[in-house]
Amino acid sequence: MTDLKATVVAQARACGFDLVDVTSADDFVADREAALERIRDGQMDGLPWYTESRVMRGTSPAELLPGARSIICLGLSYWLAGDADGPSPESAGTAPEPNATGRVARYAWVRDYHRVMKRRMRDLVRALERELSSEVAARWYVDDGPMLDRAAANRAGIGWFGKNSNILNPEFGSWVFLGQIITDLDLKPDAPLKKSCGNCTRCIDDCPTGAIVAPYVVDNSRCISYLTIENRGAIPREMRPLVQDWIFGCDICQDVCPVNRRAREAGQPIPPAALGWEPEGRGRIDLAQLLEMSEDEFRHRFAGTSIMRAKRVGMQRNACVALGNAADGSAIPALAKALAGAEPLVRGHAAWALGRIGGDAAIGVLANAAELETDTAVLEEISDALAESAGG
Ligand code: SF4
Ligand code: SF4
Repeated sequence: MTDLKATVVAQARACGFDLVDVTSADDFVADREAALERIRDGQMDGLPWYTESRVMRGTSPAELLPGARSIICLGLSYWLAGDADGPSPESAGTAPEPNATGRVARYAWVRDYHRVMKRRMRDLVRALERELSSEVAARWYVDDGPMLDRAAANRAGIGWFGKNSNILNPEFGSWVFLGQIITDLDLKPDAPLKKSCGNCTRCIDDCPTGAIVAPYVVDNSRCISYLTIENRGAIPREMRPLVQDWIFGCDICQDVCPVNRRAREAGQPIPPAALGWEPEGRGRIDLAQLLEMSEDEFRHRFAGTSIMRAKRVGMQRNACVALGNAADGSAIPALAKALAGAEPLVRGHAAWALGRIGGDAAIGVLANAAELETDTAVLEEISDALAESAGG
């Protein structure tokens, strides 16, 4: 049994994983109860796919793979060499600079991890089959499957639950993509880590939206990551100023985490996404340019990256919010075009941004749009924006 486990660990490392630990295929009873409670409390509202039946399945490995005996838990760091070039921990939580760029969370600085992780996990299973000269029953998951990835990583000893709900590994911090292979191989489980956040509360104190409502509990409806990515509708008006210049995800509760200061790089990193960052630095995208992109241009620039998940309309909505927060008058022409565009969601947020910028030019654009607009929700945004400009 020891040899088999050593083979799994060696092959996982050869396939490019930084972390590999094993847990049993027993049900995740406590995590199931906690997840069901979060659903019942409404903390997962807005994620319609996150249902009670999904949680039931995802916490019962034997339901996902009949005959399951072990879960191989894997971690792959996405901390890139030279990440200090990007927004620094010290700048986290400060107001946006007037440079009309928006920030992208670090995990999207590399190519879409789902593909890379799944390919490496498939390679690992094939390598084990070759080593063992027999078929290995296996199913593998990243965070888009039903498996509770953090619960599995925690029980296997990959890391402990941080108060920001991320898994923290002593070497790689929380900059880690997690994967799980459920298998019929009988492997000796590893023990959970005997570590915790102790008295630290940095992530809770520094979250700009108060989304970490209690240690280990993130209210999705307040989290910038949810609001800018999975959320398909409007960003609630009271949340928009708090979103600052984030246009895809948010790293603040990870940037301020002391464990992440010592994070190591991946052994075999995922290649960086070819995103053509702005001169201001890696992780920044020109907002006016983003706002004016056609669907073809958007696909051309972001294909193969995690940013595709938010879709063009979502990203343009986010760009409007960031421009409003930057109060950058030079963005008025781009916002005026957006206000005349085809998407009511983008038009509404463009109106909000113009209201935040204020001044004669912005008011003129809003007043013209009020004459032509037919969508009730957008008209309401325009009228509120005009009121804000007049008041401001
Ligand atoms: Fe708060 Fe940002 Fe962390 Fe969400 S990702 S909990 S908004 S700091
Ligand atoms: Fe834990 Fe502190 Fe990191 Fe939050 S900032 S996850 S409390 S160590």
